[in-house]
Amino acid sequence: MIRARGVASGMGLLLLGFVLGSTIMSVVTAKDAGEERSPVECDHRSLTAVLWHRVAAERRALCYQTYAGARRSLGDALQMRAGQKPRAIMIDIDDTVIDTSEYQAQRVSSGISYPAGWDNWVNSGSGALVPGVKEFLLHCESAGVEVLYVSGRSESLMAGTAAKLKKEKLPFVDREHIVLYDTKKTAGVVCSELSAKYDIVMYVGDQLDDLCIGGMANIKSRISAVEGGRSMFGATYIVLPNAMYGKWDAAMYSYDYGLSDIEKRKIRHFWASLTDSKLLEEICGQQ
Ligand SMILES: [Mg+2]
Repeated sequence: MIRARGVASGMGLLLLGFVLGSTIMSVVTAKDAGEERSPVECDHRSLTAVLWHRVAAERRALCYQTYAGARRSLGDALQMRAGQKPRAIMIDIDDTVIDTSEYQAQRVSSGISYPAGWDNWVNSGSGALVPGVKEFLLHCESAGVEVLYVSGRSESLMAGTAAKLKKEKLPFVDREHIVLYDTKKTAGVVCSELSAKYDIVMYVGDQLDDLCIGGMANIKSRISAVEGGRSMFGATYIVLPNAMYGKWDAAMYSYDYGLSDIEKRKIRHFWASLTDSKLLEEICGQQ
């Protein structure tokens, strides 16, 4: 994350039903009463996204699909490259290698805002691996491609991050291959620095920044960046799904992280209220 910001048992299903039922009831009750919503209720949008991330088999399938495609594309990329610099991939960490949805679920359920509790969660070594990522990274290693773990995590989380990656037995876990840039550098600067040293054959992440094609930008320029690099998705650019958080959301409220949850909700409702033609008009009108 960038700092700013099976089969269940019958009892498990019953418990899940109770929790969901309680949440839904509280939202409905507050709405009916016309009261200001609590942080938990304000963030029900996030709750849905987090639950999709945690329980939807489709999300798991998407991850396997993405990494299987990445493996095939890596083979194609290597056939076309014969540079002098060591070949490497740049891969983001949060929700690309490590699934942070456990933390996101805790955040939504307790009504706390990121970064509260984030450092403790990271240093606890929690979080499952994103499905398919380990096999892909081991394949990179066997193909002679180095792995650069690049993240906007704080440098103070280096030890916890390295310990977690090592615990998961992932390749290239050392200080040279883990780059945590926090707020000291932009993603663009990190991309330039690594490109000078390595022949980057692939970028993998859940945010445009991870692909070195987007920075702090409005919706219009984010979409333009994707359209401009359209032919490279699935080949050089590999994207994992993440509806829980990201600049796609912050771009709607112009990265004004100081806004209250209520204010952000009003802005999201504005975007949700637009018809297709109005949405296009709004995006095209952005400077
Ligand atoms: Mg990420």
